[in-house]
Amino acid sequence: MTTQTITHIVLFKYRSNITWTDFESHFSAFSSLKDRCLRNGKPYMLSMRMGKNRSWEPYSKGMTHGFVLEFASQDDLDYYLTQDQVHAEFSRNAKSFIEDSVVVYITDGVLFGVAARHPSLKREGAYAGSCHCGELKWAAKLDKAEHVLCHCRTCQKLGGGLYSCNQIIAREDLTMLQGEPRVYTYKGASGKDVRCFFCGTCTSHVYHHQDAMPDKVIVRTLLLEGGSQMPATGEIFAEGRLRWVRDLRDSFDTPEGSEPSE
Ligand SMILES: [Zn+2]
Ligand SMILES: [Zn+2]
Repeated sequence: MTTQTITHIVLFKYRSNITWTDFESHFSAFSSLKDRCLRNGKPYMLSMRMGKNRSWEPYSKGMTHGFVLEFASQDDLDYYLTQDQVHAEFSRNAKSFIEDSVVVYITDGVLFGVAARHPSLKREGAYAGSCHCGELKWAAKLDKAEHVLCHCRTCQKLGGGLYSCNQIIAREDLTMLQGEPRVYTYKGASGKDVRCFFCGTCTSHVYHHQDAMPDKVIVRTLLLEGGSQMPATGEIFAEGRLRWVRDLRDSFDTPEGSEPSE
């Protein structure tokens, strides 16, 4: 199989108050990435072009500079965007200069097809999640594709349903890919704070984080791709189970779930 090169096109609108010296050091740091970004000890960026926008047409949307980088594969580009520490440091430094940006990746001649998958969705057991309106997107890595039902009153109140479908996963196994959730903080049964992260537009609940379990998050498994096909294998706060739901109990494969205090 031949791999096709990927062209990464970035347009920046720089803030108007950047000094000449700052610009010079920023551009020299940017252009040095071609040699300083290494994978397995070798430079891997195939080419880099950059310049100020010279268009007289009224279609620049305020973008002041363009950067066109070429990579041998999507894998190299993913590495550049998510793992390359030299690039990461450059990005951190550049952030305060940039007011707005446009980013696209293209493969020459490929005019149809789906977008590349985010690297954190390529891991084994990773599931894409999205809220109802599509503003928030995330990736959650599950050891097993299954739901643990929570019958607590908080879940019933927050979700307006009979129970919620969850899994407790390591905090690093949840990655927000798009959008910034809003946060609602309340006191859990343990007396410690619980933060509920939800979409500020459509109110879908993405995950909870509890001070009682700082290294874990509770993800809403029904919002993950394929969630409606995952089996329910446990339940917690069973004492809150509504009468209509009791029949469900027999269908659980394992009776014990882990106990978050919501
Ligand atoms: Zn939403
Ligand atoms: Zn609950």
